[in-house]
Amino acid sequence: MMSKATPSVSSQVSGSNAGTTLTDRVVELVTSLATGAVPKLVPERSIASPVAYTYAEAARILGVAPGEEIATLDALEDRGVLAAEPVTTVPVCPFCRTYPLRVERACQECGSTAVHRTTMIHHYRCGNVSPEETYRHDADLVCPKCNHKLRHIGVDYERPSGVWLCDDCHQVSDAPELRYHSLTCDRRVPLDDVVDRQLSAYTLSPDGAHLVSEGTLRAAIERPDVSDSLTGLPGAAAIDRALQLEQTRAERYGTKFALVRFHLSNGPELGERFGEEAVSRVVKTLATIARENLRTIDAVGRSERYGFLAVLPETDSEGARVALSKLTESAQAYMHGLGRDEAHRAANVAGEIVEPTAPKAE
Ligand SMILES: [Zn+2]
Ligand SMILES: [Zn+2]
Ligand SMILES: [Zn+2]
Repeated sequence: MMSKATPSVSSQVSGSNAGTTLTDRVVELVTSLATGAVPKLVPERSIASPVAYTYAEAARILGVAPGEEIATLDALEDRGVLAAEPVTTVPVCPFCRTYPLRVERACQECGSTAVHRTTMIHHYRCGNVSPEETYRHDADLVCPKCNHKLRHIGVDYERPSGVWLCDDCHQVSDAPELRYHSLTCDRRVPLDDVVDRQLSAYTLSPDGAHLVSEGTLRAAIERPDVSDSLTGLPGAAAIDRALQLEQTRAERYGTKFALVRFHLSNGPELGERFGEEAVSRVVKTLATIARENLRTIDAVGRSERYGFLAVLPETDSEGARVALSKLTESAQAYMHGLGRDEAHRAANVAGEIVEPTAPKAE
């Protein structure tokens, strides 16, 4: 799976350059790309960064710690200001999203990590086959079954295979289980569950160059988020506007409309069990299903971490109930279908009709 954290440009306020706001610093960064003072932002290896790389020039200009500049660069890419060209991919822990992961070997039987490589010994005389440890008697090899001393490999014994022996339960196996141990959050992570954090080199995009030359870069950065980068749906501000429009129409022309909310009712629990990355994929799936189920005149947008609001024009409460149950049922059926991952199968989708609050006085 691919991952990219994409908060808004201005949400990443940390570090401090006296007298400047983060927006000032973002403008300075983009401008330095436009003037060629910084030709390109390239990821450099850094142990201090949570994703093992930093964009040193960007971190310096933004005044943040190594790695903290990446969220800003991602947001600038989302806005179309920067163009990205993939450079490398760093596997990170799905829970804490940091790179320090140790490969851990564990006994398939008892889970102990006290496992080591050894060889099996086959004693021809009695046919005994067991790990070398069971034959060790000081410097000699003595058969644990018939008590004869082993002398010549190939003549009275052989070593047919390399195996792994558990020091705790003494289970012999061909291979221990491999998993990651996150050194940051101490969680155990199956190999397939790590998240691939893609890192790119950034240059100024043609749109970004245009914003700089026409002097509208700052306004573009400060503009409130109208689109949600995860789902591609409109954000809360756009839904607010659609709602206000319907409220005005209803007052003036007596038209009907409904406001519905649907969400992952067990979102926080899913996050704890499967990691935020997995839940993000479920949220994305829910957005796709919503788009397919609702009419083109309906305005749907992401209003919260795990949920959405939809404004349904020309819909009474009965119509809203029907639309909502069709939506939640098909979402649930899709997510619980064969072949979905665990986070999807465990997801619960709930929906409700929301009573819109009175329109704001102009
Ligand atoms: Zn972790
Ligand atoms: Zn023997
Ligand atoms: Zn064991």
